Amino acid sequence: MSIVIITEGKETNGWEKALKAKRPELEVLVHPDVAAKDKVEFALTWGHPLGVFKEYPNIKCIASMGAGVDHILRDPELPASATITKLEDPNLTRDMGLFVMALVLNHMRNLTVHKLNQQQHNWSRKRYLTTEDTTIGIMGMGTLGAHAAAELTKLGFQVNGWARTEKQLEGIKVYKGDEELDSFLATSDILICLLPLTPQTENILNKQTLSKLPNNAFVINVARGKHLVDEDLVELLDSGHLAGASLDVFREEPLPKDHPFWSHPKINITPHIASITDPASAVLQILDNYDRLQRGKPLKNIVSPELGY
Ligand code: NDP
Repeated sequence: MSIVIITEGKETNGWEKALKAKRPELEVLVHPDVAAKDKVEFALTWGHPLGVFKEYPNIKCIASMGAGVDHILRDPELPASATITKLEDPNLTRDMGLFVMALVLNHMRNLTVHKLNQQQHNWSRKRYLTTEDTTIGIMGMGTLGAHAAAELTKLGFQVNGWARTEKQLEGIKVYKGDEELDSFLATSDILICLLPLTPQTENILNKQTLSKLPNNAFVINVARGKHLVDEDLVELLDSGHLAGASLDVFREEPLPKDHPFWSHPKINITPHIASITDPASAVLQILDNYDRLQRGKPLKNIVSPELGY
């Protein structure tokens, strides 16, 4: 009975404690301090060293510590026999919903502008956007996107979504596939990216797509930095086509000190904190899949390596 935690750079203490708290009899190992690697069947990972699974010949499940799995699938030497799973945790979903609502409301009510005005002792009353004026477009209508859409709908916004496959969601129009992307973009006064990073979605926020947004649109990227072509965003902000952007994720993290985003007046930056996994809550799902593996039952939240999510 063992789980190995494999990560480069992520702190493992919290995960070890959370797993032991819920399952004291479980042996929790941390790579590379594992004596009998051939006995391990279940790995919990975030940013593992490439090729590491060659050392674990009997691995059957590679579980992500987060909702994204791009950090697992970037490895060209994954064992074909292992099932890959993503995290689907209610707290993570809730927190992402709250964060995108905060970013949307911050933009609508000009809170950043007023903070900057305060620093100049400047009493300047600015007209704000209303929910009737504003249609929100969410790219990615999976666990996080669908939840954020439902929450924003409750606030009174018209919300549209975009996904790969067709969806019926109450009160939300969901566009699908490349063929409906332009129509979706044309309706999105605020665009929120909650796509997984895959070969199909990398660089999807580029000059061509962002130009299709209505004039004065606002862009929120809380998915992955590689969805966005940085120079294209800056060009469209500087030309006045886009009103601004809130970015939580970046091609390189931490964002390099000399990156132009830092000082751009129309860009708000947060350091990848949209929704942080809480091990105490997340291990419930990890242990559920661990038990399923032991009993030969189907695992939950399985990822398709072909689709990339
Ligand atoms: P899911 O796998 O549940 O959903 C993915 C959605 O994207 C689905 O609706 C899917 O469509 C759609 N999609 C995938 N590929 C395409 C495509 N080529 N064209 C159109 N739609 C596509 O993911 P989650 O909601 O759980 O997570 C989304 C991402 O959020 C994660 O991958 C991660 O990168 C990011 N994230 C960021 C965090 C942060 O703190 N900033 C925290 C957690 C996650 P369909 O439904 O048709 O399959």
